[in-house]
Amino acid sequence: MSLPANLYATWRAQRPGAGPCREEGPPPERLLQAVWQHQRLLRDALALADGRTVRVLHPGFLNREAGPDFRDAIVQFGSETPLRGDVEIDLVASGWRAHRHDVNPNFRAVVLHVIWEGASADGLPTLALKSRLDAPLGELGEWFGGEASARGAELDGKCCGPLRELPRAELDAVLQQAALVRLQLKAAQIAARARQCGWEQSLWEALFAALGYKHNIWPMRRLAEMAGTTEGELTVEHWQAMLTGWSGLLPAELPRGRGPDAEYLRRLWDTWWRVRERFGEIILPRAAWRMSGLRPANQPLRRLALAAHWLAGRDLPALLERWFTRTVADENLSASLLELLQPAGDDFWSWHWTLKSPRLKKPQPLLGNSRLTDLAVNVILPWLWARAAAGRNPSMLARSEARLLAWPAGEDNATLRLARERLFAGSPPRGLFLRASAQQGLLQIVRDFCGQSNALCEHCRFPELVRCVGA
Ligand code: SF4
Repeated sequence: MSLPANLYATWRAQRPGAGPCREEGPPPERLLQAVWQHQRLLRDALALADGRTVRVLHPGFLNREAGPDFRDAIVQFGSETPLRGDVEIDLVASGWRAHRHDVNPNFRAVVLHVIWEGASADGLPTLALKSRLDAPLGELGEWFGGEASARGAELDGKCCGPLRELPRAELDAVLQQAALVRLQLKAAQIAARARQCGWEQSLWEALFAALGYKHNIWPMRRLAEMAGTTEGELTVEHWQAMLTGWSGLLPAELPRGRGPDAEYLRRLWDTWWRVRERFGEIILPRAAWRMSGLRPANQPLRRLALAAHWLAGRDLPALLERWFTRTVADENLSASLLELLQPAGDDFWSWHWTLKSPRLKKPQPLLGNSRLTDLAVNVILPWLWARAAAGRNPSMLARSEARLLAWPAGEDNATLRLARERLFAGSPPRGLFLRASAQQGLLQIVRDFCGQSNALCEHCRFPELVRCVGA
């Protein structure tokens, strides 16, 4: 039995809370939180109720405890010094008093009140989102499938049994369809940004964000926005100096010592300090970065060094398009993309994890296979799919989907592990997750169904839907 091509999409429409948001009336507060968390906003056109512009250098971290909705955000009003603090989200400004935030000490560090519409209350800097969304509310409601992934339950999910009964071909097809839904949702997000800043810039921003991994998405994205305003051709080293300088992570002191490594740092320093004055107010504060707990390969400056190689070429978008239109055997997909994205070598960064770390014994590539897969499935294929959709090109749409379905599996992570525990009692059928599409499909099911339910799977329709296929 083969599955109808859009079966997963119809399942998705039946998840709790599914269905487009009404265009009139306020959206649910959870959607507003997701909009803020993912910055589904006209980021270049944000303004406070008092008229000052707002730049969001970091939206903060979603707070699941008592207190404001987002902790540790960094925002800049007009040309003032960036502020670090919390962000509270309410539908209307009067919520501030109605919820007694004004007398709650947990809310003392709030620097920005984000609301759906209306004027400010209590003199707090207030940002209304209603006319600042990057897509219509209905589209955002469709995109939003619940950001919370499955909570830490150790119980098998109720879908475990029905999934076990499902013939293998159908199980593969369900995961693939869910992966394609995910591809399209990511593409819609990129297309929404492209409507503001153009296709090439939307690609750069998404690439930088992916290089930020989990913790440094927002400062990386902000650097892509700044790089997008730079004119003229720069060398790799000049880009490295600019990105490092904008990042605020360049050491304040001129390095001592001799040798090629110290020379490199001195050249960065010299290049940056000659132009630093011009950028004073937009240099990111160090606090915008999370440096603890990062693997060496994920150190932001090393990621930026890689991005500098891409920027110095400037023709990366065209190269990716050429890669996309050429025929590549499935088994060569990953290697052929790596060939485009991996710089030949970097005299400094191939040999160092950070600016101050000792020289490595062996050179290390600036881009590894797991990050390559992340870039392919989260950015490059969705970007190409979005372009094909915008150009109404069915063969290119089919090609981007085929490449996703053929892409080898990426690195495992905690969300995937937990999902395998819940949906497959920790033992999925052999070989089920050899492809990135199966991983992506699983993540989408978690988002659409587990994220709308609880550890006891209450009100989740997924088991019943799966049973209908197997029947
Ligand atoms: S919430 Fe639904 S999809 Fe998630 S484990 Fe439970 S039954 Fe399965």
